[in-house]
Amino acid sequence: MSKYYVTTPIYYVNDKPHIGHAYTTIAADVLARYYRQKLGPENVWFLTGTDEHGVKIAQAAEKFEKKPQEYADDISASFQFAWDQLNISNNDFIRTTEKRHEENVEFFVSKLKEAIGPDGQPVIYKGNYEGLYCYGCEAYKTESDLVDGKCLDHPNIEPAYLKEENWFFRLSVFTDHLKEIIERGDFIVAPESRKNEVLRFIEDGLDDIAISRANVDWGVKVPFDKDQTVYVWVDALINYVSALGYKGNDDKFKTFWPANVQLLAKDILKFHAIIWPAMLLANGLELPQVCFAHGYFTIDGQKMSKTIGNVIDPNQLVDEFGTDAARYLILAQYPFGHDGDIKADDFVIKYNADLANGIGNLVSRVLGMTEKYFEGQVPKMKYSADFDVKAFWAQLDRGYSELKLYENLKAIINLVSWCDNYIDQTKPWELSKSDNDKLQQVLYNLIELIRHLALAIYPYLPETAEKINIKLNINETINSIKFDKSREIGGMKSGVKIEKGEGLFARK
Ligand SMILES: [Zn+2]
Repeated sequence: MSKYYVTTPIYYVNDKPHIGHAYTTIAADVLARYYRQKLGPENVWFLTGTDEHGVKIAQAAEKFEKKPQEYADDISASFQFAWDQLNISNNDFIRTTEKRHEENVEFFVSKLKEAIGPDGQPVIYKGNYEGLYCYGCEAYKTESDLVDGKCLDHPNIEPAYLKEENWFFRLSVFTDHLKEIIERGDFIVAPESRKNEVLRFIEDGLDDIAISRANVDWGVKVPFDKDQTVYVWVDALINYVSALGYKGNDDKFKTFWPANVQLLAKDILKFHAIIWPAMLLANGLELPQVCFAHGYFTIDGQKMSKTIGNVIDPNQLVDEFGTDAARYLILAQYPFGHDGDIKADDFVIKYNADLANGIGNLVSRVLGMTEKYFEGQVPKMKYSADFDVKAFWAQLDRGYSELKLYENLKAIINLVSWCDNYIDQTKPWELSKSDNDKLQQVLYNLIELIRHLALAIYPYLPETAEKINIKLNINETINSIKFDKSREIGGMKSGVKIEKGEGLFARK
């Protein structure tokens, strides 16, 4: 792999950022930061943004007595603010109301108009839609999608009955091809449970889908039929190529497309694992390598909802715990990809256990002893501890390639526990009275492991990693350190003056 392109969904601006958006975005950030270490920053592109068109946005704006653009500007800014707070390192932030995006949507849809399907027929046609539409999802619904006539995700919104002339995309003609490439793993839908869900859905048969709407003002007009507006989901999906300059075949597009990983929550799986790849196939574009859907989470066993009042604002988490800790607490809850429960009361417990008493305490203990016994100079020794550094890195590399972000975090915390145990067993305070050589050896081993710890936590806790590096008197920022070289054993130079300095995480 020589380049890495990771995307989050673009978030719909009908709502302020909550912990669910933060979860996906922090996960993408961890991947982007790891691959920047591995491949060099110039070879990684990380895209996020906001989805701003559609009837639902126009209606929400009206409710606040704002113009749709004004309303979208405000909410989009609140996403950008939250991502700044969380130290998200996206390379670009695309908004679907930007001219650069709208031009790409027109271009993409015009290409679809010319495109010929696998059966030799045009892939789009004008037809009549008659059926139900959920404004909550901004999506067409069939009776089988509904329970008691209501959308599962929007039980309070009555599905609207629509009868209008639309442009249709012949999704049905891509059925066999999609099935084949997903089964073969040429287009990876993950985790496995999501892949099976998509295959079942395809086997049930794919219907053609409307890709335009009549009587919708807030959106991109269909370039060859100005009475029609591009369906908001089609508009939104195109962001993944528009942001790279698809229309102009820009260098960025040539370098980074196709995406290596597209992250999303499982509620929008069909759009990303069926409709989007079919649209790409129709226009002769390469498909993303991996479409990865993570699960839903509940808060203290309950679905997150405004009515219950259990919505967690990521900004509040940052205010309470700090940027790095907020990132950590969100990702350290349960394996990425699964459904899980966030226990809000456990935030403080986890913070103290893993960060204040874990990473923070280890670093200050080891550097404190180095100051006390050796005036802060790294002892002249070679690494000789039992902790297998090579195996540790191999495990993390494998974990990232399989998006095991939670397991990797566990492996890192495991390194911290290993060091704590090592201190308890070797008792440096006793060695200081009896065996100076062994004391030097023990402290060198620990300092070297802390150096590796800083490199390993960087994707998750970037500020903490840089702080540790400063304490270790390593002047280069982690991003510019040659990753493979710095992961070799024994990189900590003897004689260097380290400094314990301030604690990394204050106890709560
Ligand atoms: Zn709905």
